[in-house]
Amino acid sequence: MTTLADPVPGGRPGDVERATALGAELSGRGVHGIVLSYVDTAGIGRVKAIPAAKLASAAAWGVGMSPVFDTFLANDAIVTTDVLGSPDGDLRLYPDLDQLVVLAGQPGWAWAPVDRITQEGERHPGCGRTVLRRIVSRSAERHGLTFKAAVEIEWAVGRGDAPGGGFVPAVSGPAYGATRQVELSDCLADLLAALAAQGVDVDQVHPEYAAGQFEISVAAADPVAAADRSVLVRQTIRAVSQRHGLKVSFSPAVLAQGVGNGGHLHLSAWRDGANLHSGGARRHGMTAEAESFAAGILARLPALTAVTAPSPASYLRLRPSQWAGVFTAWGRETREAALRVVTGTAGVRDQAANLEVKPVDLAANPYLALACLIAAGLDGLGSALSLPEEISGDPARLAPARATARGVRRLPASLQEAVAQFRTDDVLRDALGPVLADAVLAVREGELAAVAGLDDEQVAAAYRWVY
Ligand code: GLU
Ligand code: MG
Repeated sequence: MTTLADPVPGGRPGDVERATALGAELSGRGVHGIVLSYVDTAGIGRVKAIPAAKLASAAAWGVGMSPVFDTFLANDAIVTTDVLGSPDGDLRLYPDLDQLVVLAGQPGWAWAPVDRITQEGERHPGCGRTVLRRIVSRSAERHGLTFKAAVEIEWAVGRGDAPGGGFVPAVSGPAYGATRQVELSDCLADLLAALAAQGVDVDQVHPEYAAGQFEISVAAADPVAAADRSVLVRQTIRAVSQRHGLKVSFSPAVLAQGVGNGGHLHLSAWRDGANLHSGGARRHGMTAEAESFAAGILARLPALTAVTAPSPASYLRLRPSQWAGVFTAWGRETREAALRVVTGTAGVRDQAANLEVKPVDLAANPYLALACLIAAGLDGLGSALSLPEEISGDPARLAPARATARGVRRLPASLQEAVAQFRTDDVLRDALGPVLADAVLAVREGELAAVAGLDDEQVAAAYRWVY
């Protein structure tokens, strides 16, 4: 479980002693540097690094980094809000010692996610990890609910020697093909070894649909740990692949046409150790609370996409009939519905049942995406919402009248539409808080301005290697 307490200047009780011992142990294991990692509003992973010997000092006093990164764009241009984007000020990055791991794919390095607080020791309102942690702890206090989450990771493997920033698939076999698994055999074996050494519980890895595409899924964890893990897994995939001369892209649309990279989110709500998505009297074993939670997410999906699909490139992926889930529809095990009710197999449903949200990609900041999904679900729970009629098959084929009758609508087809939905969504804005909500709007508008006049190919190229 992730520690739910915020960092404090001087360190929380025991932190400095623990970091001192850990720093010495890391040095003894040949670790020279520790990557301190977080994800900005645009979904870009940003880092600082410290020598292993400085871990105790980082646990006590943090490591400096400017708050300006909260309004960085994916291309490193900077936008501003009323409070963010100024060159002034400094924040302290505090490594979460519980999540620190030695990086098996990067010899000499360890990695830890960070929380960011102000120099005065107050929470930084732009810290997405803190926002998610608060939502999780408030849900436990106010509603007696805990959550499990997992982020599926899809990525494209390209040749490292491809000219001019282009993408040349490093493997040629068919989708889900045995050929492709053999072609990437050594790299995938190294990846599994590295993740196992890092304590990441991998469920499965397979060749996916698009050219050069693979997917990995990992076991569910508490939401903060799940978000941390998705960042760590991507860092590991990139590092291991690079050692094999390969280049990886987690961009929603590595190419402008065809199937993209998703980052489907799995989420389940639990009370007193019982999974609310199983053993209930509602459809597919959902409890009334789980149905309302799911309905809350479904109702807010159009606004959620501004957070879960935050890049102009996200909308090259979010097209009908590509398993990305672009309609406000739900169904059991339906791969074209934005919300898939996963029941699991008879015998393990009490553990396995969950919701899968599909219009999510890996340009999303996973902390913000999970925070907003939980907030949307809790709002549905508070209003005792019910799910509409479920769908089966591809909603793109529903006759317009039937689609309207079932409330099946196309999700935003552009970042612009998503931003318009988010702007007026008080539940999501409140979940993030005003500072972060304004940063989301400013950054999305900045991304839109950055791609003004570009065609689809140019948009795909602009974001191909940044995520
Ligand atoms: N690649 C698809 C997407 O963009 C998902 C394929 C799958 O269902 O695994 O979301
Ligand atoms: Mg997949």
